[in-house]
Parts: sequence; structure tokens; C-alpha cells
Amino acid sequence: MKKVILFLIDSMMPDVLEACIAEKKAPGMQFLMEHGQYIADCTTVFPTMTASIDCSLITGVYPDQHKVPGLVWYDPEMKQMVNYINGSLPVQKLGIAQCARNVLFDLNERHLNRDVKTIHEIVEEQGLVSGSINVIAHRGHKKHKVHIPPLLDAVTGFRLKGKVSGPTIMSLGTLVRPDLFRTITWNASQSIIEGYGVNDTHAIDVLLEVLRSGKQPDFTLVYMPENDHKLHRTPHEAVSHLADVDKQLVRFLDFFDSWEQMLERNVCILVSDHGQTVIGKSEEYTISLDELLSRFSVLRLGEQVSPDCELVICNNERMSYLYPLQAGVMGKIVDDLSHDQRIDLIAWKEGEQVVVRQGGTGKTLRFWRNGPWTDIHGVTWGVEGELEVLDVRGNGRELQFSTYPDAFSRLYGALFAQTCEVVAVTAAPSYQFLSELAPTHPGGGSHGSLHKQDSLVPLLIAGASRSFPTPARIVDISAFILQELGIETALVPR
Ligand SMILES: [Zn+2]
Repeated sequence: MKKVILFLIDSMMPDVLEACIAEKKAPGMQFLMEHGQYIADCTTVFPTMTASIDCSLITGVYPDQHKVPGLVWYDPEMKQMVNYINGSLPVQKLGIAQCARNVLFDLNERHLNRDVKTIHEIVEEQGLVSGSINVIAHRGHKKHKVHIPPLLDAVTGFRLKGKVSGPTIMSLGTLVRPDLFRTITWNASQSIIEGYGVNDTHAIDVLLEVLRSGKQPDFTLVYMPENDHKLHRTPHEAVSHLADVDKQLVRFLDFFDSWEQMLERNVCILVSDHGQTVIGKSEEYTISLDELLSRFSVLRLGEQVSPDCELVICNNERMSYLYPLQAGVMGKIVDDLSHDQRIDLIAWKEGEQVVVRQGGTGKTLRFWRNGPWTDIHGVTWGVEGELEVLDVRGNGRELQFSTYPDAFSRLYGALFAQTCEVVAVTAAPSYQFLSELAPTHPGGGSHGSLHKQDSLVPLLIAGASRSFPTPARIVDISAFILQELGIETALVPR
């Protein structure tokens, strides 16, 4: 049976991939495209931020089931903001110790719902071996020791007691190293600059070492983050950024006697987590939530929630979660945001229903599960109000989405990831949100929203025994991989 390797390339976009191949700058990706199936419009998860998407990729479900709402969110039980590390300034304020614990430990061991299984857990329960290289969501049946670098240890006094769980072959930069016959050499000076080894070169170094060791897992997930970092800064050089990723992919392909031999032995899948939107340069393209919501007492980063605190803002770039902490505050938040045209969508829960309002016009629709309408993925919904808010069209009894792909399931997934009151707000194309110290990218790229520009990603599959079902979604990838590994899909929790 073939092995499966899934490369997760952060912020890879279909138009950029196609341009890169047309300009002959991506021989590796071109080879896979010529020998496989290319889907240009695979729908990802909302919010379009890596953390919640990674969890969906490895569990095959939306956040309402896996329970990780985003990169930054508020935990009402702990009365704490959770931050899986979104930038150096907020992390300094919240404390590197807390954020490091959030991303290294809490995400996998506490936040990711135990009632859903990860692909690593399912694969290893079937007697096969699974692998994860540099992915922050990695829960599995094996325990791995974390090596906290002396610098991080000294600066923060951070001590992570215990171990993190993962599949048998598990690598997380320099922090968790796979147990191979040869240790992977690492230049210490790089560790500070290159995110403790969570970078493309190190990911491929580890993958090659795994191949050389003869211990290639039946399934390996490899995360490559650098394309995202570069696009945030220089979105207009997107083709050259993706060409850099291709160079790393070619290192992997060249490991084999021929690229064809790689495909004889492996199913090779390339996917992205989300797209990016170019943000306007001038100040007006940055929407200050602190200003728009200035009449409320907002929790400051690093402070304890006090009894008079009214609101917590959790900024996910082109999306934010707003948590009202007092009765009656939610309606006022919605009112204050409804008049701003730079705001695209404002969504919240009312009982079992989701209400969505369009920024600027105040037009509103509501939808709920188990109604008379069916979407293209077979999920049934009830809907009433002004359908243009989400650009929904009804055709017979079928619902069709275009500007906001799979809008109902994805909004539902985000809002019902938690039981508390929460408002999800998204920025219009070209706009981003600013709140205390959150990273912004004027003139650069950003993501987070429900809009198709942030939400449609390329999916490239070569060497598989069957076609990937379309229309494709990120949440369908784990079931496809399990089928390729000969694991009954009935085992996949849906
Ligand atoms: Zn990003």
C-alpha cells in the first residue's frame, strides 16, 4: 500500500499557483499537477486562521465540533484570552509563558475536543504509523518530551511540565524532535530568527531524515509556514514566494531515484490553509475596534477580568470575536458596528439560530439547522430575511453560495464552537481590524474573513487511487486520506 504525504502550505492561493506554473517557476508543483487532480476552489474553515483550520484538517470537522474557535479567543471558564501566538507585541503583554503553554500544550491537550478523533489517532489505532512535522495541532496516542530552548526558558521562567501528545513520528521545530537513528543538525543561531525551527527548510530536513531512516510513517503531515509570513509583508511578490516553496518541494522529490518513483510509492497531496487579501495602505483601511467600541469597558491585554469589564476583543486579523461580559451589552455592540461600511458581516447566535447583519446597510438574515433547504454538501437549513447579506441563492430546494463559500456551515461552526455569547465580525475586502497591539499589515496581505478571497484554496492530489470528491472542502481531506490508507470511512467521526 502507498504511503500518504500531505504538505500544508500556508496561504498558497490558486491564482498564484497557476501563475507560478505558467511562468515555469514551480517545476515540482507542475509535475504534481500534470500527474494528478487539481481543484482550484477547495473551501477552508472560518475564521480563516491557521489554528482552527489545522484542527479541522486533522479531525475532519468544523470548530462547532472540534471546539477550537480561532487563533485568538476568550475562554470564559478560565476568564482568560487564549492566544496561540499571533505576534510578538500581544504575546509580550499576555506573557510568553501563557502563550507558549496555550500553543504547545492547551491546544492539543485541553482545547481540542476529546470527543472527536484526530487522523493520527485513527491511523495508529489501525496499527499503522502516523507523522506530524511542524503542525501545531498534532494530538495523538504517543507522548513526546518538549525541549524548551535555554533562551526561552531563561527569559520567561517558563517550565512545561509533562509531555505533549502526538503521533509516533513527531517533530515541532527544535522543541519536539523525532526519535530517529540520527539527530537532525540544527544551527543554534537560526533558532531565534527562524521560529525555533518551525520553518520550511527545517520541515523538509526532518522529512528527508525520516525517509532516510527507513521509518516513513504511513501518513505524514508537513507544515510549511514561510509563504504566509512573506505574503503578509510583500503580497505583490506572491509568485516568487511560492517559487521558494517549490524549491523545498523539489528537495523532497529529488530524494527519490525519479519523481515518478515518488508517486509509485506515495500519494502526494498539497493544500493550503487559507488565502490572503491585500490591505489598503492608508489609515482608513485599518478599522480600529477600540475606537468603534470605545463606550465599553474593554479588557486590556494581560489584565485580569474585573467585575465592571464589559467586553473582550479577540482579534483574528480580518475577523474578530467580541465577547460581551455583561447583560445587554451584545445588542449595543451590534448597533455600534452596524453603521460602518468597512465592516462586512456581523454575526451572532439567538438560541439555535445564527443572525447575520451586513455592515453599512443593516440588512439582516437568519438561518438554522434542519430546515427545508439543502446546501451543496447535503446539510439542511432553514433561512429567512435578506438573502443578499450572504449572497445566498435558492435554486429549487438547493442553496448556493458564491461570495461566501459554504457560508452557513462555516459561520455556524465558528459561533457554536463555544456556548457563551459571542459576536463574530469580519472586515470588508481591503480592510483589516486593529485592536490593542494586534498585528496589522497596511499595504500587505491579511486574512481571517469569510470572503472567498480568504477562503478558497488550491488542492492538488497526485498518485491517489481515486478522485477527490467535489465540491471540495478542507474538512473532507482526512476521510480521503484514510480511504487511501485502506481504513474504513465508517471509523471517521462525522
Ligand atoms: Zn497569516
